Amino acid sequence: MNVDAKLGRNVFKLDKNSHIAVRHEVCQTRCTRRYCLVVCPANVYSWNQERGQIHVEYEGCLECGSCVIACRDQALQWRYPQAGFGVQYRFG
Ligand code: SF4
Repeated sequence: MNVDAKLGRNVFKLDKNSHIAVRHEVCQTRCTRRYCLVVCPANVYSWNQERGQIHVEYEGCLECGSCVIACRDQALQWRYPQAGFGVQYRFG
């Protein structure tokens, strides 16, 4: 079984509230690299051209923490989903 197939077995219990927030003013004024767009294995982040800002689809977050480490301008506010919500791994 390859990695994509293993990830496809994960189950997500969705919280109606996002556990990820973007401080857009920081992102737009300080960040020139936008590492979050490339480090996230779940493609949670995308660039909204119309709004000129990062768009977050928190529902697919794998809770790896890579985005917080990569965002050196601290534009991301990330926490674990509240108890009982988030990803449930089926293959480690
Ligand atoms: Fe993506 Fe990992 Fe950040 Fe979740 S914690 S948004 S999976 S990089």
